[in-house]
Amino acid sequence: MNFKEYSLEKRRLLLELKNILPLESLKRSLKDSHSRRRPRPCGMTVHTAIGCVFDCIYCYIGDMGFPTDRVQPYALTSLELVYALVNNRYFVPSLYGTYVAIGSVTEPLATPSVRERTFEYMSSILKYLKNPVQISTKQYISEEIADRFKALSRRGPISILITIVTLDHYRRLEPKAPSPTLRLESIKNLCKKGLKPTLFLRPIIPGINENEATDIMLEAKRAGVASVVIGGLRVTRTILRKLETLRFDTREIKKRLKGKRLLGNRQVSVPYSDIKRELVEIARNIGIVPLPSACCANTYNIFLTSGIRIPCYGLCYTNMCLNCPVNCIEVLPSIDEEDIRYAIARIVSSKIDIHCNKGLLMIITRSKRDRNRILSKDHLLSVLQTIYRRRIVVRAE
Ligand code: SF4
Ligand code: SF4
Repeated sequence: MNFKEYSLEKRRLLLELKNILPLESLKRSLKDSHSRRRPRPCGMTVHTAIGCVFDCIYCYIGDMGFPTDRVQPYALTSLELVYALVNNRYFVPSLYGTYVAIGSVTEPLATPSVRERTFEYMSSILKYLKNPVQISTKQYISEEIADRFKALSRRGPISILITIVTLDHYRRLEPKAPSPTLRLESIKNLCKKGLKPTLFLRPIIPGINENEATDIMLEAKRAGVASVVIGGLRVTRTILRKLETLRFDTREIKKRLKGKRLLGNRQVSVPYSDIKRELVEIARNIGIVPLPSACCANTYNIFLTSGIRIPCYGLCYTNMCLNCPVNCIEVLPSIDEEDIRYAIARIVSSKIDIHCNKGLLMIITRSKRDRNRILSKDHLLSVLQTIYRRRIVVRAE
């Protein structure tokens, strides 16, 4: 897909949905934050519910203002959600477009009503937009629910991340979530149906759970996973306080923060690259494919389930690649200079030069004013980055 085809496809989808949805729904969609929010590196986050009651000690949704004492399905219908996404200026529909990430600030399978909403959203996204979908969960997935995932996966790729970060401390760290044993059972049930779930080993909490990582990977491998995403902890003042109240030893976290102050609700990443390096090696020895990020898990799942190699949406191949079998760098889309000029001509009319190497697309303008005008349209640059799967740099000559 190039930029012209993307523009046409968006117009077609808008017309199609306008013909289906009543005026009230169209208005509701446009007011919703899904029609405006910027994608994250893992893709466009889609909220299928608001809140979560699993009460994980390392969770930051309370700090973000989401409820932690209740969970309810998101208010939009699935078609309203799809319409909101199509109106989002950062969102590129299609299998080769923006990844969709479900479950970042809630548990998307928390209750039967939330689960229904999640399945409705996934189903409509795959039907109308065709974008790769990813869901992360701690909920127990029975054989019956695994069957529903399987049925849905016939419409398009669904990457399923099963979070397990502890086998020993789950009662203290994740007091109201299903036990790791049940989550291992979820993996087995999904694998039985021919799906390819990924172990989501996140967050690694230095000094608290990294010693368990090997056992978790071994158990997950026995249950059937072929890949693992290893991720770090983002800590806030409240999270640190909760860990200490529960008598966890937080000295290692503090040591790694090197005196960085935790202010207000600010999330601070705890450095852990040394631990990650070690765990990546262990995963390889165990025979699981280590992946650097959730979007790589999405990319790898597309490859495993359909044989299609799509370069990772988050451009992880440029800075954190772990050389999984997708080999993103070898399948980058070719550059259509005329198409890029066509896109940029919407912002500035003067000539531009285009240079491209493997991971970089450089746009060179004739003046600083033109450069600044292009940089001010970050949604358009984001769309080009998604289409051409390269970091975009804009410079004045
Ligand atoms: S399941 Fe996820 S959203 Fe819910 S409390 Fe745990 S970390 Fe937070
Ligand atoms: S090749 Fe590298 S960047 Fe691409 S999906 Fe695999 S690990 Fe991620």
